[in-house]
Amino acid sequence: MYTIEYKEKKKEVAEMAGEDGVKTFGWAARDTSGILSPFEFTRRATGAKDVRFKVLFCGICHTDLGAARGDLGLPIYPLVPGHEIVGIVTEIGKQVTRFKVGDKVGVGCFVGSCRSCEQCSNDLEPYCPKNIMTYLSIGEDGAPTHGGYSNEMVVDEHFAIRWPENLPLDGGAPLLCAGSSVYSPMMYYGLNKPGSHLGVVGLGGLGHVAVKFAKAWGLTVTVISTSARKEEEAINHLGADKFLVSTDPQQMQEATGTLDGIIDTVSAFHPVMPLFGLLKTHGKLVVVGAPNKPLEVDILPLIIGRKMMGSSAAAGIKETQEMIDFAAKHNITADVEVIPANYVNKAMERLEKGDVRYRFVIDIGNTLVAAPST
Ligand code: NAP
Ligand code: ZN
Ligand code: ZN
Repeated sequence: MYTIEYKEKKKEVAEMAGEDGVKTFGWAARDTSGILSPFEFTRRATGAKDVRFKVLFCGICHTDLGAARGDLGLPIYPLVPGHEIVGIVTEIGKQVTRFKVGDKVGVGCFVGSCRSCEQCSNDLEPYCPKNIMTYLSIGEDGAPTHGGYSNEMVVDEHFAIRWPENLPLDGGAPLLCAGSSVYSPMMYYGLNKPGSHLGVVGLGGLGHVAVKFAKAWGLTVTVISTSARKEEEAINHLGADKFLVSTDPQQMQEATGTLDGIIDTVSAFHPVMPLFGLLKTHGKLVVVGAPNKPLEVDILPLIIGRKMMGSSAAAGIKETQEMIDFAAKHNITADVEVIPANYVNKAMERLEKGDVRYRFVIDIGNTLVAAPST
């Protein structure tokens, strides 16, 4: 159904774009294989409130992998993923006030919302019923949105993040999703209180930046991982205080009742009841990972310990800016492996196997070239 609608829309957009639309190229998934290949499309001309920018770097989030394969339920193909995008402003609309040409800029998971509902009024755009995601949505122009695995972006300035001078573009890019998706719940659920003890489950893109934010807030941090080989790095490099191998029942048993809160970033189905066991009375398990199979929860242990389970999307725009400014102040960046655009399929394969320390970032500015036919 989506495909037919999309074909119609594509035709309309091509007609609508006319002379005003701007030719753009990127890498798109075409079907549920998730394999990406070069793709040319049209982005809207710069509107009065728009900021247009040349993309320099884009992180590869695990969500990009799920979206490319249609695991998130709404495949719209071709689909250009990428929602950890940084670049340099090349054009601004007449009414833009916060950016000028040449500024560094970032875009995360959202590029639109209604701007008037209760959620929007409270700077919670991700929870707006009409929010427009950076990819996997239909934009205001009726065309599917496309993300940052592309040479340029255009967004309303409200959805653009000002980039601090001292924050590296490559290591900073993943903060726009990975950073925002752990910072926001840690703030909202009060998991940022100095002196408290936080567990971080899954040491991947989201998990490793959660450790960095938690340490900047003065928390004690225990990493809970399936990969014993990550212990040395978690402690000595990322600054975690303790490390538990989640598949080792003895280690898990010994840590019973030690944590005030847990942020769970695991991308696949996994048992959560042992995690509740690690929480103190009143402890909170906040799951931000998005496994494609339902998790199993037995409520009795929650009742007995008055424990709660929560979740969260990425931060709203105001909070994303606060997070980026906080990261710049505390020298927090993601640990990244910078790759050329034509390595993206290999990177997806490696990401699926957990073979990355800890985020792939595509060097779009230097390596994304249009396909010979375009
Ligand atoms: P990632 O880099 O692949 O990290 C996920 C980590 O989960 C892995 O490093 C691994 O850590 C652990 N893991 C993977 N498979 C596992 C399994 N079968 N059992 C137990 N642990 C497993 O992914 P990411 O980019 O951080 O994203 C993590 C999840 O968050 C994804 O589901 C993504 O879609 C979701 N996400 C949600 C939001 C949001 O707004 N809520 C935003 C962005 C992403 P160990 O080796 O340490 O066990
Ligand atoms: Zn993401
Ligand atoms: Zn709204």
